[in-house]
Amino acid sequence: MAKKITIIGAGIVGVATAAYLKRDGHDVTIVDMREPGEYCSFGNAGILSPGSCVPLGTPGVMWKVPGYLSDPMGPLVIRPGYFLKALPWFLRFVAASSPRRVDEIANALRPLLKQTFDAYEPLVKHAGVADLIRRTGYAVAYRKRAAYEGDAIAWKLRRDRGVIVEEMDGAGLRQLVPQLAGDYEVGLYLPEQGFVASPSRLAKSLAAQFQRDGGTLLQREVRDIEVGPDGPRALVTNAGSVPVETLVICAGPHSNEFTSKLGDRVPLEAERGYHVTFSDPRVELPMPVFMPESKLFVTPMEMGLRIAGQSEFAGIHAPPDYGRADILEKLAQQIFPGISTADATKWMGRRPSLPDSLPVIGRSTKFANAYYAFGHGHVGLVSGAPTGRIVADLIAGRQPNLDVTPYRPDRF
Ligand SMILES: Cc1cc2nc3c(=O)[nH]c(=O)nc-3n(C[C@H](O)[C@H](O)[C@H](O)COP(=O)(O)OP(=O)(O)OC[C@H]3O[C@@H](n4cnc5c(N)ncnc54)[C@H](O)[C@@H]3O)c2cc1C
Repeated sequence: MAKKITIIGAGIVGVATAAYLKRDGHDVTIVDMREPGEYCSFGNAGILSPGSCVPLGTPGVMWKVPGYLSDPMGPLVIRPGYFLKALPWFLRFVAASSPRRVDEIANALRPLLKQTFDAYEPLVKHAGVADLIRRTGYAVAYRKRAAYEGDAIAWKLRRDRGVIVEEMDGAGLRQLVPQLAGDYEVGLYLPEQGFVASPSRLAKSLAAQFQRDGGTLLQREVRDIEVGPDGPRALVTNAGSVPVETLVICAGPHSNEFTSKLGDRVPLEAERGYHVTFSDPRVELPMPVFMPESKLFVTPMEMGLRIAGQSEFAGIHAPPDYGRADILEKLAQQIFPGISTADATKWMGRRPSLPDSLPVIGRSTKFANAYYAFGHGHVGLVSGAPTGRIVADLIAGRQPNLDVTPYRPDRF
């Protein structure tokens, strides 16, 4: 039966969810204070990696943290004033890094991510932007064999779940990606992965198609939810009230502000990341490259070469520190000595991150008319369309094609 459904958030998760709900014939409205795909979904690395089933926290991760924090060019920073606030999240993160939990998390992530191409395909074809999805695979470049061996657990987790990982030496890597300078001791190729040539164009195109299909997009800031005995009744916005029958919360790193109004407290953190995009880099890559030692991706996007990474804990509202993006620019110059960095744009985005690296997808614990889809952390683009399809299944009363219990909101 067709329902009237309101979604908070027009990031990739919100627009993919809207697209799948529209395919089921529902009357769907998205409410967002920004244009679609302008928040975290704007500037990510664009990687579509069905193989990214390894959580951020793996056994022994805490021993690596001091090294990351003390390296001025390192991938992790916790602003001193924010450390105590982030501590409860980090304690949960450590608890989720045990060998047993990591195995369970990888088991839960893999079936979600594995669906990425299959779930995006009908949406991008319908929106006329199938060209955005590139199935090139991606390369991995390790300067030191010891670093590769130090990541053995992560690669085993992937291989054990059927991810194809082809290993090669430095010469093999240079054949695969001749643009890489310097000495790399180990290269890997993951042929089943891919990327999106413009993450923001993807979200905007899906949103535009959603509107052409009769969906409504309201540009408003949601300030509160009016909750009655049977669940959410209306959104209180900067431009009046929006009545609600069924609500889906896809508000990225702000989602917990809304779930707490519905009685569900979720330990969501804004894990900030940065990118630099060079519009005329004079380096043309055949595929994205992952640099595990610096935890960054370099992606050949349609608007230029993007280098994205960094993990900064500073709270959701703190101003960006573009010094983190400058680090990425310096690393780009080391990786590609001939790169032209003349025309660079810098960006900061907030990953909606949960301490166990799993999203929340499912129904509110209190109300039958409220659903959640957020907290996808580092894999929100990969899992955007699969999540949308799952939410549509749940709302329609269909059995989703995977077990959703690992994503329940009350697991913490
Ligand atoms: C540097 C970097 C690189 C990344 N690389 C990758 C990658 O390669 N692959 C991958 O899969 N993922 C990647 N990610 C993660 C990915 O970008 C996110 O997981 C994803 O964009 C989250 O999408 P979302 O729709 O949940 O949130 P968002 O895109 O943040 O959307 C949430 C929306 O909610 C709206 N909203 C919030 N509060 C309100 C309110 N009060 N009223 C109205 N609207 C509201 C916002 O305006 C926003 O539009 C990366 C992230 C970063 C930072």
